Amino acid sequence: MSFGFARLIQICICSLVGANVLLPAPSFALAPKKLAPIQNCAGAQASRTREEYEAEQRVIKKGESLMRSGRLQEAIEYLRAELAQNPRSAVMNFELGNAFLRSRDFTSAIERYQQAVRLRNPFPEACLNAAYACMDAGMELQAIPWFHKYLRENPNSERAKDVEAELLVAHAKAQMKEKRNFDAKQTLERALQIAPRSDLVLFTLARVRSELGDTQGAIRAYEEILQINPKHSAALINMAECYQTSGQLLQAVSWLKKYAAGNPDAKDIGQIQNLITALTEKSAEQKSDPQALDYAGSITESGRFYRWPPNRLPIKVWVSQGEGVAGFKPEFRNSFFDALNSWMKAGQGRLQYVLVEAKEQADLTAEWTGDPYDVKPTGHNVEQGVCMLKSVDRGRNFVEIDRADIRILTIDRNNQQPLSDDEMKKTCLHELGHAMGLQGHSTNNHDIMFFSLSNTNWPVLSKRDRATLFMIYQHYRPLVSVQQ
Ligand SMILES: [Zn+2]
Repeated sequence: MSFGFARLIQICICSLVGANVLLPAPSFALAPKKLAPIQNCAGAQASRTREEYEAEQRVIKKGESLMRSGRLQEAIEYLRAELAQNPRSAVMNFELGNAFLRSRDFTSAIERYQQAVRLRNPFPEACLNAAYACMDAGMELQAIPWFHKYLRENPNSERAKDVEAELLVAHAKAQMKEKRNFDAKQTLERALQIAPRSDLVLFTLARVRSELGDTQGAIRAYEEILQINPKHSAALINMAECYQTSGQLLQAVSWLKKYAAGNPDAKDIGQIQNLITALTEKSAEQKSDPQALDYAGSITESGRFYRWPPNRLPIKVWVSQGEGVAGFKPEFRNSFFDALNSWMKAGQGRLQYVLVEAKEQADLTAEWTGDPYDVKPTGHNVEQGVCMLKSVDRGRNFVEIDRADIRILTIDRNNQQPLSDDEMKKTCLHELGHAMGLQGHSTNNHDIMFFSLSNTNWPVLSKRDRATLFMIYQHYRPLVSVQQ
């Protein structure tokens, strides 16, 4: 006999879904301040008259002054016209290359630098700027021989250390493109030993740490960049992204505000303002500190937990064999039981389950589907699984779980491919967490119960996941191990 009322809750099902708010892609561009200053080149031009040399210097000066005042197109046209008169001038080719680089016409810039080096070899500045133009164009592999050439010809230059580090960055970026992020990280750590205060090295290292899921490490690298250059706008944006990923939304907002204050005319400023509003609203929904030992505050409703009452233990479980379900693999059932056993272990003997033969006998059921629509009951969420919980409220300090029905999508809804075993295990862990009574989401991206898509959690329960589950059931008597 039941005193209370039963109700069906649909737990928000955002296991492994995209975050509601996305940050714009970070920018990678090298600042044009890297342009090597032009050196006095009289020595290399000994065969020319003094008049010719002085005329060339006047052209260079005028070109530079146009560039400095931001009149890039004018500078390009002026230098082009002068170069037509004097096509053998290495320095004018170099200067025109700089104008192209500043206007982000990388192909033309590289052509001019190549021509400059043909006319006057060695020409260290042209060589280096050719490397930077390749880097800016995203052609790291083409940059590498230019860096090597510079280092071969200028082993004792005061820039040599920086250039050596930049060469390693080029290698690391090429490795990142091949998804060899761990190798890239090691390459960048070597670069950092050579040039510990290089913002290029630090920035790239932060990106690769993010890719590897080391959000805290990425944050440390961005902090160092911002100590060196507090206005580094890409670092400000990416810092916000790191805090967003780790669920610390107010921190994310504060970094976005710093970016907005420093870049009021930025093209993306409208988008950033919207993001600030969205994250501020979302943070108001958060109830717990992502660094606390558990996230009890996030999974209670008016201070009350959901849990299986003692008289329903061991939980009667039935899992579908998945016959005829598109994308189903028998290994998925193993993932499910691994996940279920992980939660049982977290309960330290206080939670147990038994398998039952028929679905009708079960209190916890799990079924598979190849149709994304089946796990989309709310119509707008994009998810890999759903846990429907039926509860009974008897007016006590906790709400009794009456039954839980889980449905899991066998294919990745983004690319329609079968889910990898790791992704399946994460989905099972997350939905089973809801089924055990964790009615809500963690704000820490290392927890399996984190509220949105994250490549930063592993297919295992975090310490906080385990602590939160244990907190719910800690006063239960440990049960004798149940054999099936
Ligand atoms: Zn969820």
